[in-house]
Amino acid sequence: MINFKELAKEYKTPLYVYDLDYMTSQYNELKGAFKGKKSLLAYAVKANSNLSIVKHFADLGAGADCVSIGEVRRAFLAGIPSYKIIFSGVGKSDDEIREAIEKDILYINVESEAELRRVELIAKELGTTCRISIRVNPNIDPKTHPYISTGLHDNKFGVDLNSAKRMYIFANNSENLEPVGIHFHIGSQLTELTPIREAAEIVADLIRSLSTIKIELKFFDIGGGLGVKYDNETTILPYDYAQAIFSTLTALDITIVCEPGRFLTANAGYFLTKVLYEKQNGNKKFVVVDGAMNDLLRPALYKAYHKIEAITDSTSQMRKVDIVGPVCESGDFFAKDYMLPELAHNDLLVIHSAGAYGFGMGSNYNTRGRSAEIAIKDGQDKLIRRRETFEDLVALELEFLQN
Ligand SMILES: *Cc1c(COP(=O)(O)O)cnc(C)c1O
Repeated sequence: MINFKELAKEYKTPLYVYDLDYMTSQYNELKGAFKGKKSLLAYAVKANSNLSIVKHFADLGAGADCVSIGEVRRAFLAGIPSYKIIFSGVGKSDDEIREAIEKDILYINVESEAELRRVELIAKELGTTCRISIRVNPNIDPKTHPYISTGLHDNKFGVDLNSAKRMYIFANNSENLEPVGIHFHIGSQLTELTPIREAAEIVADLIRSLSTIKIELKFFDIGGGLGVKYDNETTILPYDYAQAIFSTLTALDITIVCEPGRFLTANAGYFLTKVLYEKQNGNKKFVVVDGAMNDLLRPALYKAYHKIEAITDSTSQMRKVDIVGPVCESGDFFAKDYMLPELAHNDLLVIHSAGAYGFGMGSNYNTRGRSAEIAIKDGQDKLIRRRETFEDLVALELEFLQN
């Protein structure tokens, strides 16, 4: 059991706490599910990009799925070898593409015909060949929140099957491109297996059809997206997931690349915030806390549910409250109509499932410094990012201040 009260006392609030041992067990469970086939788990760095977290996965043998050159640089800093790094995303700048090619990463996931031509041109300028994979949009409804759905033609991601085939032929004929993989990622927080299996079948069929024209791919990149329990969702078991993927790959000798983010980190993370005070507006009861949407945006952005646990001596009855932060936005809440007992100044709230898309989506809105982050491993806690100070926040502006 993590002693949240002690941690809050030592490191102050608001505070992110990550359980690295939980991350390890999630990693091992998923990696184990793919045993019997060649596989690479490329951690989706955007889920939680703290260098110590990325390094933790590097030490476990993971690769990295990156969506900006900044994330690629993080992956390198954290010790992930170049041959395990993938660069994805719909809009890569020339500078980003150039650096990715120079760093000789595993492959670039290309998301449009125009991008394929840019990659070719830049590889040519550099006098080299770039390994690429093409992100296919299989037009499958993943049945998740529309903001995190990515596998429909309505979404900006990937290319349709016909374009993909054209692009493979183009790449195969180019001296500066080497097509090595195929990629799909239909959405995040997926809780149903059927859409994933359908997408995998479509993409596996394309691999077979490319093989008949002598384009042999080495990597079947199934993206990330495995859902986790925030509340009482039923989730996909890693074993069933892997078996569903295997079932689409009969007679194909290919390395499976999986890009989990949320699955590895979400439920390893907790966000700690203290009660400032309670207030009542008419019939509505509010608990005002010291954390805010600039620390944990998911409730404001997606109306996401997070379980909230109160650490208090209160023995009062439970009542319905809105838990809100100090930021000047009505969207600044962690929960609405949530059942909690009466709370006192400095009581602690533990917001669960905050390890993915938590700190990383944070901002300095309202000139609030971002929280500290700590990691727990083998029962030992350790600071992995210090709290931002006011000086940190103004540093990039101060030198331009005119008298
Ligand atoms: C965001 C993203 C992931 C990770 O998604 P999770 O739902 O966190 O597993 C994997 N691959 C790509 C291309 C992504 O954009």
